[in-house]
Amino acid sequence: MQPLVIASNNPGKLREISRILAPLGFEAVPQAAFNVPEADEPYVTFIENCLTKARHAARLTGLPALADDSGICVDALGGAPGVYSARYAGEPKSDQRNNQKLIADLAGHSNRRAHYYCVIVYLRHADDPQPIIAEGSWHGEIIDTPRGDGGFGYDPYFWLPDLGKTGAELDADVKNGISHRGVALRELVGRLGVVGG
Ligand code: IMP
Repeated sequence: MQPLVIASNNPGKLREISRILAPLGFEAVPQAAFNVPEADEPYVTFIENCLTKARHAARLTGLPALADDSGICVDALGGAPGVYSARYAGEPKSDQRNNQKLIADLAGHSNRRAHYYCVIVYLRHADDPQPIIAEGSWHGEIIDTPRGDGGFGYDPYFWLPDLGKTGAELDADVKNGISHRGVALRELVGRLGVVGG
């Protein structure tokens, strides 16, 4: 297995990334194993924050690094929480408070459409001028009452009409097979070794 430093401290994300990468021959090693602290995410786009996180981990470890920047974009809220998904209800980050705020903000809205978005960046080294970049989206709707205890973040409120389940009611492999993160990661791994300097 080829070790790969993952520029994240989010346990839900790390769990999913490890599970997706393992059968593809990669061992996901969290940046915390190298004592890398969380990077600041000051930008208004997913890709800028993602590049910043990957560069931070690659710089501090001296190793290739992979970062995931993701979030949920709700149509009736003009795309919010978007890049602010992790800290929608402020600091400290809390999935429970984020979900409460999302449901409160959507009160009275009949348009419940939303999508998760994920961008993945792979850097061969901190100053890599040719990052490998892949993205994925996953479409659903926001419901008011949570269902399921799998996944993380907004999953108990993320309803998939075709499946009749929320993201939190899906088996981990089923979620990874269709999610924004699964799509992006598999595309990225397919391009590792193909795109070169
Ligand atoms: P980031 O660490 O800044 O990329 O924040 C990602 C945030 O988006 C997470 O903390 C969650 O709130 C949300 N998010 C991203 N992907 C998922 C997912 O697969 N399920 C539930 N929430 C997600």
